[in-house]
Amino acid sequence: MRKYLLREDGNSYKANLHVHTNISDGGITPEEAKEGYKSHGYSVLAYTDHEVFVPHNDMTDEDFLAINATELAINDNWPGGFKYNKSFHLNLYAKTNDKTECCVCTGKSIFLEHSKAYVSETTINNKYRKFHSREGINDLIQRANNDGFLVCYNHPVWSLHNYSDYIDLSGLWGVEVYNTSSARGGYEDTTQPLDDLVNRGQRVVAVAADDAHNLNASAYGGWTMIKADKLDYDSIISALERGDCYSSNGPEIKEISIEDGVVNIKASDVVFVKLVTDIRFARSKNGSENTPLTDVSFDINDFIVDAGNPDQCRRSAPWFRLEVRDKSGKKAWTRPYFLDELE
Ligand SMILES: [Zn+2]
Ligand SMILES: [Zn+2]
Repeated sequence: MRKYLLREDGNSYKANLHVHTNISDGGITPEEAKEGYKSHGYSVLAYTDHEVFVPHNDMTDEDFLAINATELAINDNWPGGFKYNKSFHLNLYAKTNDKTECCVCTGKSIFLEHSKAYVSETTINNKYRKFHSREGINDLIQRANNDGFLVCYNHPVWSLHNYSDYIDLSGLWGVEVYNTSSARGGYEDTTQPLDDLVNRGQRVVAVAADDAHNLNASAYGGWTMIKADKLDYDSIISALERGDCYSSNGPEIKEISIEDGVVNIKASDVVFVKLVTDIRFARSKNGSENTPLTDVSFDINDFIVDAGNPDQCRRSAPWFRLEVRDKSGKKAWTRPYFLDELE
C-alpha cells in the first residue's frame, strides 16, 4: 500500500519562519512585513524579533497567520567582540497563540534601547540567565519546550559553528538549512548540521527561511511550505510539529510517497534529485534543462533490508531525506523521514 509522506492534495501554505521588524533591528514595521509577504504569496509569517517576545495576533486575518516568536542569541564572548564571537541563535515559536510571555526571555538580554518599550514587567524581572555551554544551551531549549515553544537552530554557518559546537544539542524542532540573509551575505548554510544532528537521534525538520530585516535584500528567498487542513494557529503549528512540510529556495516538491520499498518524489522541473541516508547509501538522478525531472523513483529495499538486519551495527535510527536542485541551482529539501515512522 502506498504511504504518502507529503500529499499533493490538500492545502499548502507558504511560510517565512524568520523575520525582524523595527521592534528589534529590522527596518520594517510588523504591518509592512505582513503586507510584503502577503503580496508575495505567503500565508504565514513568524515574527522573530531579537530577545523580545511580542505577540502579533492582531496581524492575523482570514488569509494570513502570524506566528508569535522570538530569536534568542547566546554568545560565547570570545575576546574581540561581535565579529569574533560564536553565537547560538535560536528561534522560539509559541505553540499556542495565547502566550504573552516566554520563560527564557529576560530584560537583561535586550541590546536595543527602543526594544525595551516592548518588554513586560515579568520579563524585566525574569532571573533566568543564558549560558554559552552545552548544559546552558540545552537547559534553555528544554525550558522553552516545557514552556510551549518549538525551537529552531538558526544559520549555523553564519554563527561560525562546527560539529563540536552543535552536536550535543537536544530538544530542537528544526535546523535552518538555508537562511536568505546569511546566504546573500556570503554565509550560505549547508545540510551538514541537520544530518549530523539527525544521526545523533535528533528528529529535526529542515527549515529554509529569510531572516529578513527589510523587504529588499533579505526577503522572499527561502521558505517553508506547510501542508495543513486550514490556516489557523493550531493547524499550522501541529503540521510543523508533525513535519508535514518541506523547505525551498526555488523548486516545488509536490508529493512524496513510498510503496514496496520504492520512494517516489514528484516536483517542479529540476535537474538533479538525490536521496541520502544515515549510512553510505544514497541514490541520485540527473536530468538537464532540456530533459527536466518531475517524477523520480528510488528503490531503497536494500537499505530497508539492511536496516532490519540485527547483526548490522548502526550509529543511529535509519532515515532518509530527499533534495532537489533546479537548473539555476535553487534547491528544495524534505525533512528526514525515519523508517520506524513508516511502519
Ligand atoms: Zn540570527
Ligand atoms: Zn534573525
